[in-house]
Amino acid sequence: MKQIVWFRRDLRVEDNAILANAKDEVLPIFIFDKNILDNLPSDDKRVTFIYDAVLKLKLKLQSIGLDLAIFYDYPKNVFENLAILGFDETLCSIDFDDYAKKRDIEIESIIPLKRYLDSFILNPNEHLKADGNPYKVFTPFYKSLNILTASNSIEEYKRNKDLKKFEFDYENIPSLEQLGFKKQKLTAFLYKEPQKLFEDFLIKLDNYQEDRDFFYKDATSNISVHLRFGLVSPRQVFNYFRQFENSDFFIRELFWREFYNYILFHFPKSEFETFNQIDISWNENEEDFQKWCIGETGVPVIDAAMKRLNETGLMHNRLRMIVASFLTKNLFIDWKKGENYFALKLLDYEASSNISSWQWSASTGADAAPYFRVFNPYSQSSKFDKDAIFMKSVLKDLKDVDSRLFHIENGVQTNLFVTYPKSMVDISFSRKRAIEKFKEAKNETA
Ligand SMILES: Cc1cc2nc3c(=O)[nH]c(=O)nc-3n(C[C@H](O)[C@H](O)[C@H](O)COP(=O)(O)OP(=O)(O)OC[C@H]3O[C@@H](n4cnc5c(N)ncnc54)[C@H](O)[C@@H]3O)c2cc1C
Repeated sequence: MKQIVWFRRDLRVEDNAILANAKDEVLPIFIFDKNILDNLPSDDKRVTFIYDAVLKLKLKLQSIGLDLAIFYDYPKNVFENLAILGFDETLCSIDFDDYAKKRDIEIESIIPLKRYLDSFILNPNEHLKADGNPYKVFTPFYKSLNILTASNSIEEYKRNKDLKKFEFDYENIPSLEQLGFKKQKLTAFLYKEPQKLFEDFLIKLDNYQEDRDFFYKDATSNISVHLRFGLVSPRQVFNYFRQFENSDFFIRELFWREFYNYILFHFPKSEFETFNQIDISWNENEEDFQKWCIGETGVPVIDAAMKRLNETGLMHNRLRMIVASFLTKNLFIDWKKGENYFALKLLDYEASSNISSWQWSASTGADAAPYFRVFNPYSQSSKFDKDAIFMKSVLKDLKDVDSRLFHIENGVQTNLFVTYPKSMVDISFSRKRAIEKFKEAKNETA
């Protein structure tokens, strides 16, 4: 048997479905896909992260007697060329994204493709309600998984240690520059191995539920980027933290990721249209949208969050909720525009989590926030960044402004020694407007 082992979003050696299921002689490959890379700006941070992860994977594979052939091409070309070498099949992990599904169908017509569940714990097809329909609400979905989530561990994939390396030219490694990208400086924790992130977070686990919303604190696991590209598997995260007391809340969060993947699988249209089918005439003003993107809205918490995202590709969960509410409710701009912008910028961008979370914030999604729930950005900052520690760390020109002014509409603007734009919307007025528009869209009367 001669197999291609195609790494995509599973860049690790342990608990890896394709290395467990492979047999005999294998050619491990990674493709820097021109279809994806050619649409990204040269300063995309994810490419720096993935590039580094692919080189590390190559070293790890070498340490177990294998290697990694690295290509920069269209997958179709790569497989057409490899087909000549007489491979029986290709092994890969399932990728649920729209593009990935189409790509895999095309590749399958060249060499048979075997897909394995790896990047998620659950096979979305296997957890339906008693009536045969998929769950749409998180709590019953999570309860239905009680036996799994309460267990001590989830079985991991065991690597087949008898694999033989297929003879091939493994030397040709395209440089980051040849891929069309400039090396980016990444935030320090992104260079750490998953095991180190686990250990760092373990000391915070007891306080996770209490602290996780305070966005000036570093109180969460920071594991999402590693999870996204499979440097660690969700089973490994589960198994590591499950051994400790007080892990219930954290495990529950991990299953939001599963839930959103499940929703996108069963309701693929939610990528393009409102889940609850309401028709809203959004604000199309491009200037308003751009102010939000670059963080020039005049609302400190929004501006700090967006500027930090633009600089680092990272944003705390609570801040994601606040900026999404501001865009969709106060500015009344279509959630799809926000979703696309996050897709461009977020290092941990995961279509399912991002789409569903945006729909949640816009009150158009499965198990969404009710439409009258509009976050007040000033109350949020006062609650979760009282001393403006996070905001001042980004908005450096405001570092000497009294922290209390950050939590008052147009408050920092009263300080005569700083120049800061006036808030682009009146919070109370825009909140009422959004609620009215939602009522109209849902045909509800006051
Ligand atoms: C508008 C919006 C967009 C989002 N887009 C993404 C995205 O593209 N990719 C992504 O991974 N997460 C997304 N999230 C969820 C969440 O913000 C991130 O998973 C979290 O901030 C990652 O940080 P962490 O690893 O320290 O999380 P922790 O709090 O330590 O949680 C551990 C893990 O659980 C999962 N998780 C936790 N909360 C959520 C959640 N609400 N939804 C889904 N999974 C969750 C993640 O895999 C996370 O890594 C989004 C949230 C919002 C409100």
